[in-house]
Amino acid sequence: MITVEHLTKYYGDFMAVDDLSFEIDEGHVYGFLGPNGAGKSTTMNIMTGCLSATEGVVKINGYDIFEEPENAKRLIGYLPEQPPLYMNETPEEYLKFVGEAKGLKGKELKCQVEEVIEQTKIGNVKKRLISNLSKGYKQRVGIAQALLGSPKVIILDEPTVGLDPIQIIEIRDLIKQLGEKHTVILSSHILSEVQAICEKVLIIAKGKLVAFDEPENLEKLLMASNAISFKAEATKEEAEEILSTIEEVQEWTCDEAEDGLVRIEIKGYEIDSRELCRKISLAFAKGEKVILEMTSHKANLEDVFIELTEDNGDTAETGEMEEAEETEETEETEETEETENAGEVTNGEEDSEE
Ligand code: ADP
Ligand code: MG
Repeated sequence: MITVEHLTKYYGDFMAVDDLSFEIDEGHVYGFLGPNGAGKSTTMNIMTGCLSATEGVVKINGYDIFEEPENAKRLIGYLPEQPPLYMNETPEEYLKFVGEAKGLKGKELKCQVEEVIEQTKIGNVKKRLISNLSKGYKQRVGIAQALLGSPKVIILDEPTVGLDPIQIIEIRDLIKQLGEKHTVILSSHILSEVQAICEKVLIIAKGKLVAFDEPENLEKLLMASNAISFKAEATKEEAEEILSTIEEVQEWTCDEAEDGLVRIEIKGYEIDSRELCRKISLAFAKGEKVILEMTSHKANLEDVFIELTEDNGDTAETGEMEEAEETEETEETEETEETENAGEVTNGEEDSEE
């Protein structure tokens, strides 16, 4: 569906996109995941024909975005990071305008405008000024304009940024629905977000593609960076003998510390940290050794970026990735399935608020 080959973009001397190559197949939801400044928006702007590339090729269903832009662009609906909304229009007027610009006319135009209004659930605000809509509704109008012309591919740049938790859930649900009919590519700097929505994830850091995998596998990658450390009242030999009885523990470092203690660090295990802490405690108790100061370090996306980009002989500049945000988001993700009807409830609230 989409082929990107050796894409490179310089802004002056600065290389924002560095030799990116990947393929996007039809009918899936893809996520571009990367810290701020990774090059996600630049890549999307090039893929949608809004920005020129320094080097490389982008083909949409065989059409070169630079050489046959009209044919290629017809296949894409794009919601840029800053949605191009006209604040003094109503969603209905704005969508008609965009539809006309995309070459729709008459009955076809009317039908499609109605259809995207229905799809994005903005019927109740279609006659209000866009400037008076909440951020969540503005984002829906932005998605609605991307859907006009029934493009095969929908590209959404950070579609949930700046939304409140309920709006985030609603937009995620909407994106999942779009994924049933379209190929969707979205960008995000939040791991749990792409885990919640995407079937395939491309991790981009410093303009480079550092991983392209399914979310489950990225989760494994994260787990591989988890670590547990503790001190035990034992000799090195005694501690190592106990460690070797725990099946899940393969890799450790063990050093003699002060006062007859050993300091142990365990990495690269593939089970839940708490579960492993429990196994370690029980094993040491069975060997009649006391454990002191046990802590577990749960890896976050930042650690994975550092690990992945270190392989490129580089250190990651992780921008504004925040662990707090990650944790918060994860909890929310688990609720997503149960809040299918949240949309209707909040629509009502938004309505009275505006
Ligand atoms: P992301 O969307 O992943 O946050 P961007 O594609 O917006 O990243 O930006 C990638 C890098 O390119 C950043 O370091 C950014 O500062 C730089 N950049 C983006 N747009 C421009 C521009 N118009 N001129 C110069 N530098 C830019
Ligand atoms: Mg961006």
